[in-house]
Amino acid sequence: MSLALGLRCVNCEKEYPLKILYNCPNCGGILDVFYDKLRGKAGNEKRLIVDESIQGLWTYREYLPVLNKENICSLIEGKTPLIRSKIDFDSFIAEELFFKDETRNPSGSFKDRPTTVAISKAIENGIQGVITASSGNAGTATAAYAAVASLPSIILVPEKVPKEKLMQMFVYGSKIIKVKGDYSNSFNLAKEIAVKCDYANLTSTYYNPYGLEGDKTIAYELFDQLKGLVPKYILVPIGTGPLLTGIYKGYKELKKLGFINKLPRMIGVQAMGCAPIVKAYNEKRNKVEPWDLVDTIASGISDPLKGYSQDGTYTLKTIKNSNGCAISVSDEEILKSVLVLGKQQGLYVEPTSASVIIAYEKLRKMNIIRERDLTVSIITGIGFKDTKPLMDSLNSIPLIEPTFDKFKEIEMLWG
Ligand SMILES: *Cc1c(COP(=O)(O)O)cnc(C)c1O
Ligand SMILES: [Zn+2]
Repeated sequence: MSLALGLRCVNCEKEYPLKILYNCPNCGGILDVFYDKLRGKAGNEKRLIVDESIQGLWTYREYLPVLNKENICSLIEGKTPLIRSKIDFDSFIAEELFFKDETRNPSGSFKDRPTTVAISKAIENGIQGVITASSGNAGTATAAYAAVASLPSIILVPEKVPKEKLMQMFVYGSKIIKVKGDYSNSFNLAKEIAVKCDYANLTSTYYNPYGLEGDKTIAYELFDQLKGLVPKYILVPIGTGPLLTGIYKGYKELKKLGFINKLPRMIGVQAMGCAPIVKAYNEKRNKVEPWDLVDTIASGISDPLKGYSQDGTYTLKTIKNSNGCAISVSDEEILKSVLVLGKQQGLYVEPTSASVIIAYEKLRKMNIIRERDLTVSIITGIGFKDTKPLMDSLNSIPLIEPTFDKFKEIEMLWG
């Protein structure tokens, strides 16, 4: 049974039923799902109530906003592994660093979490079709889940979306439209189409209030995987930021339940070529301003927030409330980190997701994160999704005649 009671505006606190609603009809603020008094398993055990009849993150459905199990649309997402770092940073070791490997989700990124919840809730509300504005992965996830639900789906993407993500949506059978300009143009158009044509808008900013509930299950899983220990820091690549805020919400719930007595510090990582939240953080402002010109290879987090900068402000507020910080990294550093994760950890990630590695290294060097601080980095998306930034590296691969002598020549070159 779900303990969800309704939606509450984070701004004016007005409450609404669990219907298809986006921003607060009263003041335009972000809506957040609220719950009845949370409870854990009976007895003294610090354990969440789980529904063993469902696999993946829906086992936590007591704490999710879908009321009827029949409406759950799932590809069995979540329950991803937590892996200890083996990376040898030049000047230090990082034994207390862990990776939450979200690349293992059905469509290859964590976006399956918000999407499974948002689409299930849309189905519960009897919607006939879904639309998503996406920098790639949210659209891919929407396409996959719409296929499972046999619902028509429309995906709006910015011009520069990686081809692999487009291909994935195409194979899942969505109607795809490329929209000129950056991600914000797709976002604002999807909003208009959804309202005028009666599609549920699953866009994974804070706009659809249900997605974040899927993100928060990462906290529940970490609680189990770390046997109740709370990480001191959690590093998250952020576009708009619901992933970061969702994880923090999950931890706040665990604290309300009395399972833990402290909260993690949330660290938001952006690319220097699109860093509106980091900019506001560095300038000690409380309000995030939209970013003008997007220029980065980190396609999954290139969100300039034009027209909805209150979403960035909300993420900044989470970061500050948690005593965390925001940091930006360069494209060059990101590409190096992709190779570090591949070569030293056996993880093949899209460039966006490698940003947390260089951020960790920088924060260690600044002595903000220390050697013994338990830290979790969220590895958000798989490498197959965005290969262009590294494609030129393949030019160095030799082509030889099939003889041992030729092989020997090459081996000499390797040194
Ligand atoms: C969407 C996305 C993010 C950012 O998530 P937000 O919740 O929008 O901040 C990070 N990494 C990847 C690979 C993504 O697709
Ligand atoms: Zn309001």
